[in-house]
Order: sequence, then structure tokens, then C-alpha cells
Amino acid sequence: MNNIIERKLAAGSLPDRPPAKYWAGFGVGQPCDGCDEPILDTQVEYEVAFDAFPTVRVHAVCAEISSGLVAHAGPAAAAGGA
Ligand SMILES: [Zn+2]
Repeated sequence: MNNIIERKLAAGSLPDRPPAKYWAGFGVGQPCDGCDEPILDTQVEYEVAFDAFPTVRVHAVCAEISSGLVAHAGPAAAAGGA
């Protein structure tokens, strides 16, 4: 799963910067923008908004993986909390 997300970050299909905002809720069966698996209604879904990038919909775990990768890649990502 890490590899898919890492590849998407590298390819630019996931934003490589910290989110502007996010909302947590339960999934509705839509595919995750991180791992491409459906986010089931028993799973927590994050809707993540970025500046100048479409909002992405990911599993909570995929959001953590991607923000971990972004924090590694970018400067001061962890300091940008709202
Ligand atoms: Zn996912």
C-alpha cells in the first residue's frame, strides 16, 4: 500500500504537501485516492483539501501513510498544523 501511495506522490496524482483542511467520516464505498481500494462504510474516510489541488478521499490509514511520506520529503511539513 505504501508503494502505491509513494508512486502517486512521485507522479503528482497525490499532492506532495500538507493538507489545508481535512474532514473525517465513514466511507461510502468510493475508491480511495491513495490505495484504490473502496472505502467501506465500516472504515474511516478522510476527505482532504489542498490549496490548488482537488480534494482527495482516502482511508484514514492511507492519509497517515501519505502525510508520513510528505513529512519525510518536504521541509517543515509537520509544523503546518491548523
Ligand atoms: Zn486507501
